[in-house]
Amino acid sequence: MTVATVNPATGETLKTFDALGPEEIETRLSRASSAFAEYRTTGFEHRAGLVRRAADLLEADTDEIARTMTTEMGKPVTAARAEAAKCVKALRWYAEHAPQLLADEHPDPADVRDSGGAAAHVRYRPLGPVLAVMPWNFPLWQVIRFAAPALMAGNVALLKHASNVPQTALYLEDLFLRAGFPSGCFQTLLIGSGAVEAVLRDRRVAAATLTGSEPAGRAVASVAGDEIKKTVLELGGSDPFIVLPSADVAAAAATAVTARTQNNGQSCIAAKRFIVHTEVYDDFVARFTRAMEALKVGDPMEEDTDIGPLALRSGLEDLEELVRDATAKGATALCGGRRPPGREHGWFYEPTVLVDVTPDMRIHHEEAFGPVATLYRVADLDDAITLANDTSFGLSSNAWTANRYEQERLATDLQAGAVFFNGMTASHPALPFGGVKRSGYGRELAGHGIREFCNVTTVWHG
Ligand code: NDP
Repeated sequence: MTVATVNPATGETLKTFDALGPEEIETRLSRASSAFAEYRTTGFEHRAGLVRRAADLLEADTDEIARTMTTEMGKPVTAARAEAAKCVKALRWYAEHAPQLLADEHPDPADVRDSGGAAAHVRYRPLGPVLAVMPWNFPLWQVIRFAAPALMAGNVALLKHASNVPQTALYLEDLFLRAGFPSGCFQTLLIGSGAVEAVLRDRRVAAATLTGSEPAGRAVASVAGDEIKKTVLELGGSDPFIVLPSADVAAAAATAVTARTQNNGQSCIAAKRFIVHTEVYDDFVARFTRAMEALKVGDPMEEDTDIGPLALRSGLEDLEELVRDATAKGATALCGGRRPPGREHGWFYEPTVLVDVTPDMRIHHEEAFGPVATLYRVADLDDAITLANDTSFGLSSNAWTANRYEQERLATDLQAGAVFFNGMTASHPALPFGGVKRSGYGRELAGHGIREFCNVTTVWHG
């Protein structure tokens, strides 16, 4: 893919960038390596000062960077500002909490004596330059949620961002430089995906994290596996949203709309499959469909737009194909199911509700990365759990019920990295985030995230 800003609301190419050549990549790898040698020796207080400064600068830049994100990938500008605010919060959270999350751990002295030692502790040391292969859907957040903990842990970062968000990628490098980080601590590599393997194989790169599609995850993890380098993968999801009879159906339907259509429907943790108990199905479907139809699709720069264009032409075509396949095999679109009339330029798609979805349809198994919801009617809790788990993904899950027994069953039996009751899935710096099955492995955020790229070192004294 060309490294370029193409406005998805118009299809117009605004700016094209030359990808880095081998010599420029070499310069940056060498800079990362030298920067790490110094930066790893700094203390938490120093790092926290830099990270807090980055948060302050980002806060001041919110309007500008929000418009850049909207121009590059089409999210409503209101959502882009909220994303910047979330990043500010995460930077500050890690600046405050990293020292405690990475504090030395002291095992029980009796256990140490049992090992024949006089003393022992566990120390969290940084690994080195970490390559971050990141997607366009939350072009600031996906990077910050990796960078804030990585930099606080003493690692340095090499960002290979998605090829359609180069200006956001360059902004990030500039942000950390302005905050006072030495120049090799956070670098953006403007490269296509074909150049990732060589970077990852370079001996100076210690590890990699990738957020994106399954094929991209597989490619990066294969190379990393061959090199015996640590990876964290956050891939797609097809999260269930279960509604049971004790739920507040009005609240569930209202939240379901946001959960499905946030970020123009392009979120890995968007609820995608709505699994509703037969007792409340008709009520839920009526409310949900009405609210989906009422969403305003339009120019993402306008303050009252709910749904902007999809980020990529290929994304729009993939989504159309999924819906076409489903309707050809018997699914019914209660609303949407097409591009909005009169919007030929730009990659818009109407909020869509599909019913009568069956396992022979691709959309039953594949991730719908856009504002398309599939609805299923189930007879009881067991059916809901079976259907929720009938997917190769396992990122998060949502369930609406006031019943404690049902909550316990769902928390025990849903195959996912998170279960959110009576609300929608969202990431928060203090809560671990990640999936099981083909949604990936490893965790981001919280203590679990910051320790992923640490050398957990046992220090033993005889
Ligand atoms: P990709 O997975 O292709 O892109 C994500 C990142 O991976 C980009 O930086 C991309 O670079 C890079 N990449 C892609 N292929 C490789 C490779 N073989 N080796 C190394 N790096 C690679 O996502 P798409 O934009 O194509 O979206 C396709 C689907 O992926 C979506 O429909 C959705 O299902 C899923 N997705 C999930 C996301 C999530 O948040 N979990 C985010 C985005 C997409 P480049 O841009 O240069 O190709």
